[in-house]
Amino acid sequence: MPKIINGKEISAQIKEELKEKVAEMKKAGISVCLAVIQVGDDPASSVYVGNKKKACAYIGITSLSYELPEETTQEELLALIGELNKRKDVNGILVQLPVPEHISEDAVIRAIAPEKDVDGFHPQSVGALCIGQQGFVSCTPAGIIQLLKRSGIEIAGKECVIIGRSNIVGKPMALLLLRENGTVTVTHSRTKDLKEVTKRADILVAAVGKPRMITREYVKEGAVVIDVGIHRNENNKLCGDVDYDDVAPVCSAITPVPGGVGPMTIAMLMNNCVESAALRQ
Ligand code: NDP
Repeated sequence: MPKIINGKEISAQIKEELKEKVAEMKKAGISVCLAVIQVGDDPASSVYVGNKKKACAYIGITSLSYELPEETTQEELLALIGELNKRKDVNGILVQLPVPEHISEDAVIRAIAPEKDVDGFHPQSVGALCIGQQGFVSCTPAGIIQLLKRSGIEIAGKECVIIGRSNIVGKPMALLLLRENGTVTVTHSRTKDLKEVTKRADILVAAVGKPRMITREYVKEGAVVIDVGIHRNENNKLCGDVDYDDVAPVCSAITPVPGGVGPMTIAMLMNNCVESAALRQ
């Protein structure tokens, strides 16, 4: 049977390390503060925001919460971001996405000062990643690199195939694996012979957004399989983009859903907040 890459355990370890770091920073008079903005009351967003605030409290990061009504205008939201950009006590600004349709997601992402862009979505952060300069990295792919490293999985020289090319997962994942000296292929909905390409992978990252699409026919024997997807199946249970029961017997290591990639996203967000405060000093 494969090694189960335990994201719950690894994320807990990262949070412990951050808790210690924040306590030391506090002793040196440095505090860490994240501003979290939610527009509207989408239930899924409320759960994500709640989890982020809980993680902040655990680690010792102050969280400022802005729960704005659905009718908030883009100008009002941008004005709030502008104020938070100026505040010296705020190290990170997070606007929970998606925002209501009348607000441009792009305008919101660009409004956040790059030095407080703890989600790593600002074009300047993405550009910095692309040319190997310092900047915040999108939390889910950053978490996947931590999962691999902390599980002792070598990336350098490996064939890495990513299914999906979104701005928040697929593309930054490709850049990060490249930075770790992997040989990277990015696939998408127009890729021909997808299975032929994915079967080359030593490390396969599935971020396709289709429940249990990736069966063993897509996977080389002994590959490491990282499942980014989160869905509810017909029994309302969580499942990923990978058909876990089918794939697990043929791979060497795999992330489960839940308990794999998911918990890492918040841990890396916390890491970015702490880094932002440390860099400010
Ligand atoms: P998107 O829907 O933005 O992107 C999906 C990508 O998959 C696109 O690039 C698309 O190609 C590609 N794709 C779709 N169908 C196929 C196909 N049949 N064959 C090959 N490629 C295909 O999704 P995200 O990147 O935002 O998210 C991916 C998954 O990860 C989702 O299940 C999401 O819920 C989950 N997720 C989990 C997170 C976590 O914390 N664990 C965080 C973020 C996302 P094209 O570009 O051509 O359309």
